[in-house]
Amino acid sequence: HMRQRATGHITFFQRSMHNEHARRLESEQLLRDALAQLWVEPFLQPLVDTVRGTITGFEALCRIRHPETGLVSPGEFIPVAEETGLIHPLSLQLLDQILPLLSDSRMTERYGNAFYISFNLSPVQLQDPHMGEEILERLRHSGVSPERLNIELTETAVMGDANTAIEIMERFATAGFAISLDDFGAGYSSLGLIRSLPLQQVKIDRSLVSSVDTDDEKRAILNMILSLCEQLDLTAVVEGVETETELACLAGMGAQLVQGFLFSRPLPPETLLDQVPPRGLLSAAGS
Ligand code: C2E
Ligand code: MG
Ligand code: MG
Ligand code: MG
Repeated sequence: HMRQRATGHITFFQRSMHNEHARRLESEQLLRDALAQLWVEPFLQPLVDTVRGTITGFEALCRIRHPETGLVSPGEFIPVAEETGLIHPLSLQLLDQILPLLSDSRMTERYGNAFYISFNLSPVQLQDPHMGEEILERLRHSGVSPERLNIELTETAVMGDANTAIEIMERFATAGFAISLDDFGAGYSSLGLIRSLPLQQVKIDRSLVSSVDTDDEKRAILNMILSLCEQLDLTAVVEGVETETELACLAGMGAQLVQGFLFSRPLPPETLLDQVPPRGLLSAAGS
């Protein structure tokens, strides 16, 4: 009886390993196809200044648009992209689509010519001076004004070879590109890190925002991060704002820059231009 149970267990385990492996191979193939067929595209999600009532910028979030199965989210392919090194060509393909948006006349007519686009770099790219340098070269050659592009990194970027990562960050910072620390408050979130990296912005993780209105601990942590940012002269952006109640609570805490489904989901630029007015979001949010 015992043996039967054990065997059943092993079979189940092997099958799930097999499935995991098969899924991985499938994701890798999808990614290779997407890069070859140009199915990779950036979606944009607005960053909203709730005091001024304007959009200050957009975060570019990558999607694969598969002709048969439709949209695929980064959670499905970024991990595989990082393991295989395909993250680098993926980034370059995205940048080639994002940079022209900064001077696209429809974009500038609607959102002004000062909005910035925030671009996520993977920790893998911060561990490899060659990748970092190639991204930087691409930016320099595009002639885009550096204050119009913001680089988002998570703290995991400096958890491997911190020296290499910081060196690459310094090069971006010296070239004038602002760097944001993404998902702050989600992981280890060392306070010392905030001070030792060449940052201009901190993006507060959405896990601290959900039900902030009813959770005293979350409110305490958020308050602390917001005042730390203020004192260190860092811009704070609160991510993942979904409800009016959260927004009101954050406003009460002095959070000025927010991003979240309440204002807009990430959208293809065409849809964004169609649906998201430069100031209309806040009236849609009722404030
Ligand atoms: P992230 O950089 O922290 O991006 C924010 C994520 O939160 C996005 O998920 C966005 O759709 C989601 N989000 C925004 N507002 C809300 C909200 O109000 N509620 C909820 N529940 N979620 C919200 P997405 O697009 O699936 O991206 C997931 C992650 O994948 C990103 O997290 C980023 O780490 C990574 N990623 C996306 N695009 C790229 C890329 O081009 N390069 C790299 N290296 N990573 C990327
Ligand atoms: Mg991000
Ligand atoms: Mg984030
Ligand atoms: Mg995240």
